[in-house]
Amino acid sequence: MELYSGHINKLIEELAALPGIGSKSAQRLAFHLINMPADKVKRLASVIVDAKENVRYCKECFTLTDKEICPVCANAKRNHAQIMVVENTRDLAAYEKTGKYDGVYHVLHGAISPMLGIGPGDIKLKELVSRLEGEVEEVIIATNSSLEGETTAMYISKLIKPMGVKVTRIASGVPVGGDLEYIDEVTLLRALEGRVEL
Ligand code: ZN
Repeated sequence: MELYSGHINKLIEELAALPGIGSKSAQRLAFHLINMPADKVKRLASVIVDAKENVRYCKECFTLTDKEICPVCANAKRNHAQIMVVENTRDLAAYEKTGKYDGVYHVLHGAISPMLGIGPGDIKLKELVSRLEGEVEEVIIATNSSLEGETTAMYISKLIKPMGVKVTRIASGVPVGGDLEYIDEVTLLRALEGRVEL
């Protein structure tokens, strides 16, 4: 026998499929949504659809943005010869929040993980290589210090060093397995300033 109506079950199922939401949270959210005023629910739904339809990859750095070129890449005052490679847009946002980095970024959208079957072709690596045909002086690898992040850093280093570009890796200080987005700004800056050449 079904405990809830089919509609509620469906809603719980969809919510539970989101990252970080277990079945208990999914149930709580589902009932919260059902009890919300109809206009608020409609607004939430349309915000989700709008975001999905209007957000795209920046043509240069591949971060998520509303425009063809993101505000960082479009800013002529940024140092376009310095590219910081990060795993995702949240990591970019973490470095942007420090307000102390004036180069540009490259967002990989993932990291190499043989265990999960994610290879170099599954992240924005060839897009990075093609950017290096321009005038790039330094590539700062700021992938996470997880196994996947380190594997990706090594791979990138081997891939682009022969191209004659200076390759650096942000210093440790970022705890092992630590997600960049959860680390405070001081630690992020220290990691950036203490970067070492690979
Ligand atoms: Zn960009």
